[in-house]
Amino acid sequence: VRGAPQSERVRLRRGSAKGRYDRTSVHRVLDNGLVAHVAFLDADGPVCVPMLYARVGDIVYIHGSVGSRAIRCLSTHASACVTVTNLRGLVLARSAFEHSANYDGVMVFGAFTVVEAVDERLAAFEAFTERLLPGRWSEVRPPNDKELIATAILALDLAEAEASVKVRTGPPDDDDGPDAGLDTWAGVLPLALTFGSPQPTERLRPGIPLPPSVRRLVEVGR
Ligand SMILES: Cc1cc2nc3c(=O)[nH]c(=O)nc-3n(C[C@H](O)[C@H](O)[C@H](O)COP(=O)(O)OP(=O)(O)OC[C@H]3O[C@@H](n4cnc5c(N)ncnc54)[C@H](O)[C@@H]3O)c2cc1C
Repeated sequence: VRGAPQSERVRLRRGSAKGRYDRTSVHRVLDNGLVAHVAFLDADGPVCVPMLYARVGDIVYIHGSVGSRAIRCLSTHASACVTVTNLRGLVLARSAFEHSANYDGVMVFGAFTVVEAVDERLAAFEAFTERLLPGRWSEVRPPNDKELIATAILALDLAEAEASVKVRTGPPDDDDGPDAGLDTWAGVLPLALTFGSPQPTERLRPGIPLPPSVRRLVEVGR
């Protein structure tokens, strides 16, 4: 365990040794993920929406159409729970019971505020673009006024939120038990997100080469 839980709410009960509560671990898991599941309550009950996000310092940004339900609801400073899970592998045990997954995940409880300052909104747009593909911001047309007006940017300050990280690594848990004597294959099947070959869009003007951002990602993987 690294760090101490900020509150009872984020203290891991099951597998508590897998818990981490320090800010560096929270940042690391957020920076390894691409999709956040953002949960909140609306008038009809619980809702959980997958969204892109970006972290800048202690701030987690999300963005969306000003008309979307998630944005409308979260703009009211409603309580939110943001989770990001990075699946690392399948853990295959001899018994059905001990099957598991290797992963790192973060769960953040907090509230979003609407970002109004023009500079911060533009910086957040840049962060979203760079989060998706490092180096992309300098290759694309920046958002215009119409696009900026149509998009809400919300910020959640980790310093004012409660967060926990849970990490599982390693082999199945039955190596030390009686099942180790069984004839069933056991181990870990690592799992990774990979990129395929770039597919140019249909109306791409001829002669435009792959940009450095995409080349780097495809060739170097980051
Ligand atoms: C990888 C990924 C990244 C995304 N990034 C963003 C983002 O950065 N910003 C953003 O605003 N949106 C993002 N979306 C879309 C987002 O998940 C919602 O679809 C969107 O916010 C819906 O807005 P709405 O107000 O039109 O619909 P809502 O009123 O929220 O939804 C109406 C109904 O549509 C259905 N629905 C809505 N979204 C989904 C979904 N994703 N999957 C299945 N059913 C759904 C549900 O039944 C829901 O009750 C992303 C989706 C994915 C999968």
